[in-house]
Amino acid sequence: MSESRPPSLWRPYTQMQTEPPPYEAVETSGCRIRLADGRWLIDGIASWWTAVHGYNHPHIVAAMERQLRTMPHIMFGGLTHEPARQLADRLAALLPGAGTDAALQHVFFCDSGSVAVEIALKMAVQFWRNRGQAGRTRFVAFRRAYHGDTMGAMAVGDPDDGMHALFSGYFPEQILTDLPRTPEQRAAFAELLAARRDEIAGVILEPLVQGAGGMVFHDAETLAAVRHACTAQDTLFIADEIATGFGRTGTMFACDAADIAPDIICVGKALSGGTISLAATAASARIFDAFLGEDDSTALMHGPTFMANPLACAAANASLDLFEDGARLARAQALETVFRQALEPCRTLPGIRDVRALGAIGVVQMETPRALSWLRQRFVEEGVWVRPFGDIVYLMPPLTIEQKQTTALTGAVVRTMTEWSKGAGI
Ligand code: PMP
Repeated sequence: MSESRPPSLWRPYTQMQTEPPPYEAVETSGCRIRLADGRWLIDGIASWWTAVHGYNHPHIVAAMERQLRTMPHIMFGGLTHEPARQLADRLAALLPGAGTDAALQHVFFCDSGSVAVEIALKMAVQFWRNRGQAGRTRFVAFRRAYHGDTMGAMAVGDPDDGMHALFSGYFPEQILTDLPRTPEQRAAFAELLAARRDEIAGVILEPLVQGAGGMVFHDAETLAAVRHACTAQDTLFIADEIATGFGRTGTMFACDAADIAPDIICVGKALSGGTISLAATAASARIFDAFLGEDDSTALMHGPTFMANPLACAAANASLDLFEDGARLARAQALETVFRQALEPCRTLPGIRDVRALGAIGVVQMETPRALSWLRQRFVEEGVWVRPFGDIVYLMPPLTIEQKQTTALTGAVVRTMTEWSKGAGI
């Protein structure tokens, strides 16, 4: 093999020809990551928003060690186990709508967020088919939406996001529209659902925060308006809480802030406390009941090999324990004020479009994205792990982050963006 070949690892979202080599991580502890050269970085993004309790949390580690010795994995076809049963029960009692008729009582596990979205879409289409409305196959999705990288999930993402546009002709055609923020948009949205009701299977939304589409926020009234429009037109509402679930926006789930429950919800990322891949799609009794019948023709024919992996379920159960005293949610709410105040100096810098915060998410948005590689390198030099994408620099740290670490993170962002605004990195 020629020596000039790139390395064997093919990396995520990476132009392998031009991207500088990644940093080598060798250890994690609390809210920090140690690099091979000995530097410790304060983690500003919780490993793609998963590590809500920081890394190596002793309670989760102990639960996983116990499970690892007993039964790390077992197939889920024909067999079941306590970690999965317990986790399904706990999620059903915790998810939006718990205790009401709208409760999301039926939990289907899988191994990643994108697959949880695929399952939600499949559930919605088959729900209508099982009820004799096979024409209801399309989804309404919103501009700036991101729901994952698999084909079905990409099809309900914003086709203009740059990542997915390449495949647009390949996807099933979906209905892309604006989030109904204003009364006029709400009226137009209701009209759209009414006019195309017989072809629409459902509406899919990342509640309160469109994440990978640029950390775009909307308010609880807009979220409630989407839910209520779906109810009025008897269309299914799918909430993709893969990024927002488990405290990130200041409530356990973003839907809780609007006091609404979707028909189907997708969770992942922080579900296992940032330790191991696990995701789930949960549905209400109304959805679940439509799959019941005398033979397989109405059953949900889906079953990922590693679904409900016992090790992952044990980690998730331990992670849920750590939410029980309410401290995580309180911290997420407190971080909103911290980020809003500490990042505010960026607002007046030349080239900055906006500064915003919601729960434990702090965002500095550039007018025009520029010098991302320089920014990423500069943050590491500052001793923090912050990874801008598109036109945003954002913080989404573990909810256990200490005050002085938060100050270090926000200080690094303000200093770096000040240098950037003066033209550094060009
Ligand atoms: N939905 C949302 C809202 C996400 O943020 C992501 C991941 N960034 C996904 C789905 C896909 O999850 P995964 O990467 O685990 O497939």
